[in-house]
Amino acid sequence: MNAYIIAPPPQIAMPVQGGGLFPVRRVYCVGRNYAAHAREMGGDPSREPPFFFTKPADALVTGGADTPFPVASENLHHEVELVVAIGQGGVDIPVETALSHVFGYAVGLDLTRRDLQEQAKAARQPWDMAKGFDASGPIGIIVPADTHPVAGRITLQVNGQVRQSGELQDMIWPVPDIIAALSRLVRLAPGDLIFTGTPDGVGPLQRGDVLRGEVEGVGIIETRIV
Ligand code: MN
Repeated sequence: MNAYIIAPPPQIAMPVQGGGLFPVRRVYCVGRNYAAHAREMGGDPSREPPFFFTKPADALVTGGADTPFPVASENLHHEVELVVAIGQGGVDIPVETALSHVFGYAVGLDLTRRDLQEQAKAARQPWDMAKGFDASGPIGIIVPADTHPVAGRITLQVNGQVRQSGELQDMIWPVPDIIAALSRLVRLAPGDLIFTGTPDGVGPLQRGDVLRGEVEGVGIIETRIV
């Protein structure tokens, strides 16, 4: 029997409303899923297939902990998002049965080093270091999916002022379509999270900012940038 030659990394887990822990496997994110945000980023919100990127699971910030301002950036942006927690995996999942794979939902922040992302876009390089840096995914607790939030407001306040305000029904690709599309690219497994995109109003953050994201019917994420 072989022993680990260094200490194995800890299992990343998120608290669940009502008790228990949700072990996190992978963190997927959808790009440009609200038309107004796609336009503010200079994109064309036509109904092209959704595209995906990832964050490492250990980039999540849980339990209302402070979020450190990242290194290597002077333009950290907020993106408040509905997050889907997968409870049952699969491949080639049909849109019609996709919601049966959902364990629950959370509210998350897809923090972005926008300056690095702009450089990457200009150089036709990958987004990983703009999106998947340490502490790039503050996230609230998981709410088990008794009902599925197909409508409702999604908002972000910074220091008590509303910066982002959108409607879930304005998603270009709703949650079932996202699950179906992603499951045609990778095998989804229990423990996977999917950040489903942000409404318009993204903007820069400073150290000391207090963030409060909310999705109506799901919950909140609160963190402070330090
Ligand atoms: Mn995003």
